[in-house]
Amino acid sequence: MAEQIKVIRGMHDILPEHITVWQQIEDTYRNLAEQYGYRQIRTPIVEKTSLFHRSIGEVTDIVEKEMYSFDDRNGDSLSLRPEGTASVVRAGIEHGLLVNQQQRWWYNGAMFRHERPQKGRYRQFHQLGAETFGIKGADIEAELILLAARFWNLLNIEGIELQLNTLGTAESRASYKALLVDYLNDHHNQLDDDSQRRLTTNPLRILDSKNPDMQALIEAAPKMQQHLDQESQDHFAELLDILDFAGQPYVINPRLVRGLDYYSHSVFEWVTDTLGAQGTVCAGGRYDGLVEQLGGKPTFAAGYAMGIERLVTMLIDQNQTQADSKADIYLVMSGENTIKQGHKLAESLRDGIPGIRLTVHAGGGSFKSQMKKADKSGAGIALILGENELQKDTLTVKYLREDKPQGEIQHSQLIDQVKSLMENNEIVEITQ
Ligand code: ATP
Ligand code: MG
Repeated sequence: MAEQIKVIRGMHDILPEHITVWQQIEDTYRNLAEQYGYRQIRTPIVEKTSLFHRSIGEVTDIVEKEMYSFDDRNGDSLSLRPEGTASVVRAGIEHGLLVNQQQRWWYNGAMFRHERPQKGRYRQFHQLGAETFGIKGADIEAELILLAARFWNLLNIEGIELQLNTLGTAESRASYKALLVDYLNDHHNQLDDDSQRRLTTNPLRILDSKNPDMQALIEAAPKMQQHLDQESQDHFAELLDILDFAGQPYVINPRLVRGLDYYSHSVFEWVTDTLGAQGTVCAGGRYDGLVEQLGGKPTFAAGYAMGIERLVTMLIDQNQTQADSKADIYLVMSGENTIKQGHKLAESLRDGIPGIRLTVHAGGGSFKSQMKKADKSGAGIALILGENELQKDTLTVKYLREDKPQGEIQHSQLIDQVKSLMENNEIVEITQ
C-alpha cells in the first residue's frame, strides 16, 4: 500500500459529525451581524507579504515568527493571511469604499499562524470578525461590544468577561511611551531578555508580559490611564457611559495593550477562565491609523475578531450544542423500474414541501441492506417503493423510531400525506 499522507500539524479536519456546532456558531453570527446592518466581505487567503508587515508591524509576534510566507513562481513574496483586518482594509482602499463613507462589514474565514500547537491554538484557525470605517465616535465601539455580547447570549454561553483599556490618541500614546521607556530604563537590570528587546521595538508590549518575575515591576509602572490627553479621556468616557447605560458589565484592565501595532483609543478582549491558558475568545478595538498606513486617506476604523475554535470548545463544554440535523425521510426502492419512479416522486416531494430533508437511497442493494441504511440515516420514516407499490401507485410507510404498524399512501396524495407524516408522524384519513 502507498504511504498514507496525513494532515499538517496544527491544522484540523472538521468532520461532518462535528459540523453542527460550527454551523450553529456561523449561522447565528451571520444573522446577527446582518441584523445590525453589517454586510459580509470576502478577501483572498493569500496576500503580498508586505501588506502584513506594514499593517501588523515588524516587531509583533505574528510578523516576527508566525507567518506562512513563501515566494511564488514570479519571485513575489506572498503570505497566507494571519488575520483579517489588513486584507479588509486593503480591499476597502482598493475599491474606493472608505472615502467619505461609513461602512459596517463582517467576515468569516481561515487564518494561518505558525504557532506552537496546543489546546485553543492552531496553525490554521478560523475567525469571525467585524470592521467598521468612517465612524469617529465611541458609539461604534460600544455597538461592536454590544453585538458580541448579544452573540454570547444567543449561543447561551456563559462566563465571558469584557476587559477594556484605552491606548489614547497617537500623540497621547507617544508621550506615555516615552514615560514608560524612562521608567523601564531606570530598572533595566530587572527586565528579562524579551522585554529588553521590546524596550526599543515595542515597549507597550512589556506590560503584557506573562513572566512572573516581571510582575512587580509592571505593577509599579506608570499607568496609561493617568497620562491621557483630554481627547483620549473624553473618548473613553463616552464608551464607558454607553456601556454603563446599556447595563453591559466590563472590567478595566490597564495592562491590556493588544499584540498588534495599529490600535488606538479603545481596545477590548472578551476573556474566559474556562479554556485554560488560551482564554481570549474575541479581541479588537479602534485602529484609526491603519487605513492611512496602507495608503488610504485618514479614516476612522474599529473592529474585532473572534476565534471560532475556542467558541466551539465552550459550546461543547457547556452543553449548548444543538442536535444534529438529520433526515426526516429515507426513500427505499427495490425492484424493476422503481429507481426512476422513486426519483420522480422524490423531486415532486421536494417541489411540494420546500425544506424537506429527504434522503433517496442510492447504489442499489437488497431491501434489507437499504432498510439498515435508512435506520442509520437517523430518519424517522422510511418510504418504500417496491414493485408491488409501483403497481398500485402507492408507497409503504415504515416508522423507524416507533412501534407502529406500517401504512400506505397513494401517489396522488403524496404531498399532503408526507406533510402529515412530518408534522404528526401519522397518515391522515383522506376521504376521496
Ligand atoms: P493570543 O494572545 O491568544 O495569541 P492574539 O492576540 O494573537 O491572541 P488576535 O490576533 O487578536 O489574537 O486574534 C483574535 C482571536 O482569534 C483570539 O482572541 C483567539 O480567539 C483567536 N486566535 C488567535 N490566534 C489563534 C490560534 N493560533 N488558534 C486559534 N485561535 C486563535
Ligand atoms: Mg497570538
